[in-house]
This record gives sequence, structure tokens and C-alpha cells, in this order.
Amino acid sequence: MQSFYPSQIIEYLYCPRYTYFEYVLRIPQNEVKYFKVERGREIHDEKLERNKEYLRKKIGVTRKWTDMYLGNDYLRGKVDEVLELEDGSYAPLDYKFALWKDRIFETYAQQLYCYAILIEDTYNKPVNKGFLVYTRSRNKLVEVPIDENAKSKVRQSTGEMLKIIDGNKFPKATKFKKRCLNCTYRNICTK
Ligand code: SF4
Repeated sequence: MQSFYPSQIIEYLYCPRYTYFEYVLRIPQNEVKYFKVERGREIHDEKLERNKEYLRKKIGVTRKWTDMYLGNDYLRGKVDEVLELEDGSYAPLDYKFALWKDRIFETYAQQLYCYAILIEDTYNKPVNKGFLVYTRSRNKLVEVPIDENAKSKVRQSTGEMLKIIDGNKFPKATKFKKRCLNCTYRNICTK
């Protein structure tokens, strides 16, 4: 069965036609990736420098596993850290080579929702929140609530993505016309 990376779900949520163009017609996006989840050398370097003890103090971590590649029937991804918290729940933590801009970007939140599902399925523990660390803002730690609604929306999205891919279905355009202005598929898409 096909499983999706968080970045693919983020693209689907931006516009379902991304899924169609990219995975049914197999037309790659241009090199400009608007939703690419930041990865790379800088993050790696920052991670080496991080103070490993500060997490335990700040959020009451009892155990943690780093760089966990997790998957289930419909999702997969690599979680920077899986944390066990004092109340027995678990939480994903993701490092961002980014500045904190006083709000949580939807793409970052969606990524944590995906990780929450993967952790629940792998460890059989509840996940009610996740954490982001903004390495360019002196490792600012931000807590992100994760409720059932957020998780079921991800599950629903993967089901709809499968319908597009397996059923060769051309989906409706995004309701947000402004998104078409910057879209890499705008020249081939009949909006
Ligand atoms: S041009 Fe608009 S409708 Fe078409 S794929 Fe891009 S965002 Fe979606």
C-alpha cells in the first residue's frame, strides 16, 4: 500500500491537484519547492551543538529516541526526537533551521500531526502535543497542541490522496485562488 511523507500531505492540503500532477501524471515540480521541509547540513550542525539537558528540564522528558524512521500503512517519516513525558504520554520534537516568527506555520504543525500518528501507532502511547525547536532563535522551544481532530484530518487526507492516485481522479482546484499565483503547475493547470 502507498504511504505518504508529511511533505506530500502538506502539498495535498495546499491544493489537491499537486497530488494529481506529481503522483498521477508524474510531472515533477520545478526546482523551487515552496513547501520543502527544511533539512540539510545546517540542521545537522546545529543538532550537534544542542544542549541535550535543556529539554529534560524544560518539558519533563523521561526518555527520548533520536532520528527515528517510523512508518505505518499510510504514512512514513523521520522524527528528529520521540519524547516520553512525565505523564506517560509521548511527543514528537522537530528541529527547524529557522527563526521564530511569533506564529506556528501550518506546514510545521501538519508535520507534527503526522508524526503524532506514527508515534501512537508505533509505541501504542497517546500523543497530545509536539514541540518545535527554532535553532536560529537560540533554540526557542514552542509547544504545539495536537488534538484528535488534527490527527483525523491527516488520516482523511491520506485516504483522499489514495483515491486521486489509485482512481486517476482529477481533483477540484484549491478554493484559495491566490495560491495559483505562485504555483509551479500554474502553466499546465486549468484553474
Ligand atoms: S494552479 Fe491553482 S488549482 Fe492548479 S495546481 Fe496550482 S494551486 Fe492548484
